[in-house]
Amino acid sequence: MPDAKCPISTDVSHAARILRAGGLVAFGTETVYGLGANALDEHAVARIYEAKNRPHFDPLIVHIADTGWLDRLAEKLSPAAQSLANTFWPGPLTMVLPKKNIVPDLVTSGLPSVAIRIPSHPLALELLQQFDLPIAAPSANPFGQISPTTAQHVLDNLGHRIDLILDSGPCDVGVESTVVLMTDDRPQILRHGGITQEQLESVVGPVDVHLGNEAEASSVGSSACSTKELHAGVAAPGMLSQHYSPTTPLMLAGDVDTGLISNKRVGLLQFSETHTAARHIADFASVEILTADGNLRLAAASFFAALRRLDAEGLDLILAEPFPDHGLGRALNDRLNRACH
Ligand code: AMP
Ligand code: MG
Repeated sequence: MPDAKCPISTDVSHAARILRAGGLVAFGTETVYGLGANALDEHAVARIYEAKNRPHFDPLIVHIADTGWLDRLAEKLSPAAQSLANTFWPGPLTMVLPKKNIVPDLVTSGLPSVAIRIPSHPLALELLQQFDLPIAAPSANPFGQISPTTAQHVLDNLGHRIDLILDSGPCDVGVESTVVLMTDDRPQILRHGGITQEQLESVVGPVDVHLGNEAEASSVGSSACSTKELHAGVAAPGMLSQHYSPTTPLMLAGDVDTGLISNKRVGLLQFSETHTAARHIADFASVEILTADGNLRLAAASFFAALRRLDAEGLDLILAEPFPDHGLGRALNDRLNRACH
């Protein structure tokens, strides 16, 4: 592991050389920054788990530049998977497909399926093209912590543990890809993300949702914030009910007992200027307002960065207002529910 903090660069050829040598390169995508290694090199992939302190039961997403690599990594796409690929790739959609032997077991946590995505960010695509091999890349943050949406976030959290950060500016989607299991007859959403359930259903009809823990059964603000079990269901490995967490305790605004927070330094993560449900609860030491007018795309783009700013303020508690539970709001509520502790 390098001792000093790694460089931040925009030199794609240099990044590709590091990947070829088995190194770790964090790179921006349209969703969040990923921590990439050669997906076909088990030693390189092992370094991802080590750098992130990520448990080996949590499989990685394999990124490819175009569909050229698809039939080398996975079995033939079903008609539904083909339609989703045609519509949403490149973009924030990950499909879990039956894998071929070339994909190392370490990438898939021993599962017979592999998660694949074609990102749309031009610099990520250029890196994939120059490297010319698939890149395994989870989000570039220590396991369980807040996902990074700028190069600086990666430097702050993992700068000592990786070889290079490819700076592609702030991520414009701002939440992770939607993960859809395509190995059964009916598509199943395993993680809400940048492509909404409504968008998926407009292409393939009704989809199931299996988020792998109590988050799917509970509405926002209920039991999803209780003590968490560590292993999720088999279909959605790694979808732990606590994740994306700041170090400051976080609660949903509707859940809070106002007596508990008097005399405390409390911050508020507010969805929009016009949505002020929590304002009467306390005098907040710090307030982050995600959008002026309740635009979910803008809220998603600034969500993780705002959470990081609040987390850096040494507050006793962060209160967060839930999002409307449709479109990208589902992905944001999912992140909020898992961030609670
Ligand atoms: P991250 O790399 O942090 O974006 O997380 C990737 C997530 O994709 C994992 O935590 C899993 O929930 C999901 N995933 C990856 N590979 C598979 C797979 N083979 N089967 C089911 N889910 C997967
Ligand atoms: Mg992650």
